[in-house]
Amino acid sequence: MTARTDFEPVYAPGDSRGASALIFPFVGQNLLIHPNAELPCAEDVQAWDAPLRTFCFGTLAGRECVLKVWPSERAIPAGLSIGDYRSLWGHWPDGHLAALVRAKQLAVWVLHNLFCGACGQPMTLSPAEIACACPACGYKAYPRISPVAIGLVVKGDEILLARSPHFAPGMYSALAGFVEAGESAEECLCREVQEEAGIKIHNLRYFGSQSWPYPHSLMIGFIADYHSGELLAQKDEIEDLAWFRLDGLPVQPHPGSLARRMIEFARAQAKP
Ligand SMILES: [Zn+2]
Repeated sequence: MTARTDFEPVYAPGDSRGASALIFPFVGQNLLIHPNAELPCAEDVQAWDAPLRTFCFGTLAGRECVLKVWPSERAIPAGLSIGDYRSLWGHWPDGHLAALVRAKQLAVWVLHNLFCGACGQPMTLSPAEIACACPACGYKAYPRISPVAIGLVVKGDEILLARSPHFAPGMYSALAGFVEAGESAEECLCREVQEEAGIKIHNLRYFGSQSWPYPHSLMIGFIADYHSGELLAQKDEIEDLAWFRLDGLPVQPHPGSLARRMIEFARAQAKP
């Protein structure tokens, strides 16, 4: 559902070959940026020690995007701070945000695959495909994507929204959960809504998907209809949940989120 941007994913091991390259430096899983939210330039990072991994992961309006990953133990250089994806919404153009989603997921991937999960030997980046490869046993680890089903449940002119304890004050969103082994996205959503809200849903309609860098999720969105049951919030997971009229909604997720787009869609559908 995310609109296409001018970011194009590619994979090319090694450092950039152009002076105009955009550098995405990660210390552990954290992107480093200047206080004005700009990325460090090549000269900024040249003086640092050698990164664990360097490769081109895409192009943005024709400029190479280069990921450089240092270990999490490395000190953050003076004058730089951590740039979080959500805090950069509204500050970065969509193409830069799309690049950051990919960079973050790939940084996590390389950090988790420095050593082979099968035999324990050091891994190397494959020159031919986006994979961490083990020279000793041949095992390959590809970037990990974790699917999450997210659903907006509709009942007449009301929608079901819930609060997790870690949400911003007053904010409510759609229910979501990780797809389990052997489960379809639809089965996952029915199970999650039953577990977290105590109700059954039906008539699931695929809405769209969104890559999400916490830390390597793919949000798969559905609109669904209420079927039966009384609301009962799952303790620990859900702080509060309720049916909200579409003309009286609480604080909503950020406009850049899939959940918000589903809510806006439901509101537009309900208008006479
Ligand atoms: Zn191995």
